[in-house]
Amino acid sequence: MLDFGHLQRVVVLTGAGISAESGVPTFRGHRGLWRQHRPEELATPEAFARDPKLVWEWYDWRRGLIGACQPNSAHRTLVDMETRLPDFTLITQNVDGLHHLAGSQRVLELHGNIWRMRCTREGTKQEDRLTPLPEIPPRCANCGALLRPDVVWFGESLPAEVLEAAFAAAAACDLMLVIGTSAVVQPAATLPLMAKQNGTLLVEVNPQPTPLSDYVDLSLRQPAAQVLPQWWQRQMESINGSSAG
Ligand code: NAD
Repeated sequence: MLDFGHLQRVVVLTGAGISAESGVPTFRGHRGLWRQHRPEELATPEAFARDPKLVWEWYDWRRGLIGACQPNSAHRTLVDMETRLPDFTLITQNVDGLHHLAGSQRVLELHGNIWRMRCTREGTKQEDRLTPLPEIPPRCANCGALLRPDVVWFGESLPAEVLEAAFAAAAACDLMLVIGTSAVVQPAATLPLMAKQNGTLLVEVNPQPTPLSDYVDLSLRQPAAQVLPQWWQRQMESINGSSAG
């Protein structure tokens, strides 16, 4: 049992696996494929420059899938953690917006959000949950230039402010939960390793082993929506038990 009395600062890093039980396909799962294209072939600036229609058709398909999904009990457990813990930071690699939909107030979205679009000329952003899109590729209502998904593609830099905040939180936390990430996509994969070097307790929630598994203090090898609520419940009971005693 972890002693939350001594674990003041908690960071959670989530990846596609936390949304798997909501029905959102992970990239590396068998349902990640679309029309025989691998995500690495479509989620790039080069693919968008070559064929914006194809890339937008893929995003339209993904938006349709995600739009039909609801947050699960793992997302909701993180909302509860945010309300109860004094210093809590949620960092996600997901673009699906399910943490917000569940009720998380502050989410550091490392890879952007699939429901936001950005004008390729003006850089202006707009949120639009319309699915399917009425026009593919969509264009900026103001200047007519192409809009692109406001997500980070392979080979692109992450938003500097968000990344800075994520690294600062990871460097200063006592406990980091790493949930549903294959821990191979950089720089997000560096966060738990850096935290570990600073003496942070690492807990991994993933039914499969990952490159991080050898370094963690506790491995919960089950689907997040099953194991996270129970695990958190046990921690809560121990907090309540120790404060009563
Ligand atoms: P990934 O697809 O590389 O890995 C998913 C991980 O989740 C795997 O290790 C898998 O074993 C684990 N997993 C599967 N089901 C799980 C469950 N029920 N509970 C807990 N873990 C489970 O995902 P990644 O590490 O996030 O990296 C891929 C990149 O793809 C990210 O950059 C992300 O932005 C993007 N992506 C996002 C979404 C989304 O927003 N939901 C979906 C697909 C891909």
